[in-house]
Amino acid sequence: MFQHRSHLGIENGHLTIGGVDTVALAEKFGTPLYVTDESRIRANYQRFQRAFPNADIYYAAKANYNLSILRILAQEGAGADVFSDGELFCALKAGFSPGKILFNGNSKTDAELNMAVQEGVRLSVDSLDELRTLSKIAEAQGKEAEIAFRVNPDVSPKTHPKIATGLKTSKFGIPHAEVVSAYKEALALKNVKPVGIHCHIGSQILDVAPFADAARRMMELVEQVNKIGVELKFVDLGGGLGIPYKPGEKVPSPSELADAVLPIFEERTKSMGITPKLILEPGRHIVADSTILLTRVNTIKKAHKNFVGVDAGFNLLLRPVMYDAYHEVVVANKADQSPSDTYTVVGPICESGDILASDRNLPKVEKGDLIAILDVGAYGFSMSSQYNGRPRCAEVLVCDRSAEAIRERESYDDLLRCQVIPSRLRI
Ligand SMILES: *Cc1c(COP(=O)(O)O)cnc(C)c1O
Repeated sequence: MFQHRSHLGIENGHLTIGGVDTVALAEKFGTPLYVTDESRIRANYQRFQRAFPNADIYYAAKANYNLSILRILAQEGAGADVFSDGELFCALKAGFSPGKILFNGNSKTDAELNMAVQEGVRLSVDSLDELRTLSKIAEAQGKEAEIAFRVNPDVSPKTHPKIATGLKTSKFGIPHAEVVSAYKEALALKNVKPVGIHCHIGSQILDVAPFADAARRMMELVEQVNKIGVELKFVDLGGGLGIPYKPGEKVPSPSELADAVLPIFEERTKSMGITPKLILEPGRHIVADSTILLTRVNTIKKAHKNFVGVDAGFNLLLRPVMYDAYHEVVVANKADQSPSDTYTVVGPICESGDILASDRNLPKVEKGDLIAILDVGAYGFSMSSQYNGRPRCAEVLVCDRSAEAIRERESYDDLLRCQVIPSRLRI
């Protein structure tokens, strides 16, 4: 069950994370509860960095931008890929150096462009329109913005359509055939300096072939762009390496990814006689398996199916609804018991789609049991909401067999925090 997850274990019949009893965690901090193992994040990051010893690893903050988690990655020496002003704000607070932050986005506001230039971070520019706006903004600040273009390489990553980002029909990036003229325009414009080239083909990719395809296409463009006099300081191939959510799912390791991509990058840069830095932007692969979501069973109902009603729904974990994602489920207080029946785990949200796990073989489930949903560290809490008037849950970080809150449970007041009531409606 925990094949790939050495930070999870079973002691006295209870699921443990980082050596800490999950049943005790649920009692102490309440449920629902996100629990993250710090050493797992560090190990995942280090494995990636070892696979690409000469590359810079820019953690994709949107996967999970809790400040403590950003801080762990900044301490490890990662850079950051940010996709909004808010993520930039968090990354700077967490101590990432501005020189190792790339500001991405297909529809940045002028305020975001201003902030990026002000903070001196590099930008990945998604259109010529954006380039022209950025040039004016940088001029007004008397600064020069270092940029890459986000390229649409037109490769199919064979993943869920909502997370395939490098198809020619995607909203992201500059079409392959228009990239060289974009660099020409950038060279001619004041206050912007093209120093990089960037792509990101999608997420939860389970095969290295699309990465190799993208690397080849990108290196062709590097060659063309190099010929027109752009001195590239970096080539950023994005993130997207998947993780094994399903039992037995085969996923390439970072070193298998490196074997597929590095020879292409190294051979082509050598033949051109240039030495740009390689950048990768993993998000999911660094944080997904570090975290579990603990949720309490409120009620059992034998109807069309054996429904297990728990206290977390798509307000806290959107992935099953949004991407038909599969997450393994463990009855945390019966972790050593054999399956006895088939159950469908559902949340408390007033929508029929609020199903966290369908038709799972689990030990006999009863009211009060504790369910752990695995591999929720990426696009879990970061996609949460207060839908149905549910304050967000707490987050806990486990380190050296002890657990500390890294986010408090929201209160009812937090539901109202930014609301303003006109005087005529006051009571
Ligand atoms: C989301 C994103 C990533 C990270 O993707 P993962 O699948 O989590 O590795 C990297 N780069 C960009 C530009 C992204 O939008």
